[in-house]
Amino acid sequence: MKFGFDIDDTLINLREHAFNIYKKKLNKAVPQREFHNLKRVEIHEPFGLTDDEGSALWNSTLEEIYYTDCPSFDNAVEVLNKLYEQGHDIYYITARPKDHGERTKEWLREQGFPIVDDYFFYGMQDHEKVTIIKDLHLDYYVDDKPAILETLAEQPITLLLKDQSYNRDYQANRIVNWSDFLDKITFK
Ligand SMILES: [Mg+2]
Repeated sequence: MKFGFDIDDTLINLREHAFNIYKKKLNKAVPQREFHNLKRVEIHEPFGLTDDEGSALWNSTLEEIYYTDCPSFDNAVEVLNKLYEQGHDIYYITARPKDHGERTKEWLREQGFPIVDDYFFYGMQDHEKVTIIKDLHLDYYVDDKPAILETLAEQPITLLLKDQSYNRDYQANRIVNWSDFLDKITFK
């Protein structure tokens, strides 16, 4: 079977990692609960930044956010390796910018994720993921953004949503912990 995964905030805890980097960088002890209460993907508001300031900070910190020690979500590496060992195809589809694609692939490999070179896609806009995902004929796809799952709603793919504070209002088959993922799969 073919499994597709978004990376950021689906397999790895990127926003919280960035939130912690911001705390140090801006020297502001913003409590962690403010992160867990965020109702949007962007993380700058608890630091008192405007959207423009937040976006500038994100872009100037990108290198550190992407390539330091961002943790994977518990059990994500184990579950994907289990699928891979069982002979399933594991695809990654990330909207990370083109310039970061190959480095991201190597970084993820170092974290222990099973990666086949040709099964790694990057550099598209969120709304363009649908084109790639359609052509791959995936059986399952997991993402944290409801807007992306909506673009796929008409496709014959089982869609799963990685639970995050900003997507709780969206009705979906939800993964709270990766240890529950295999129970949600009907293997053929
Ligand atoms: Mg994501």
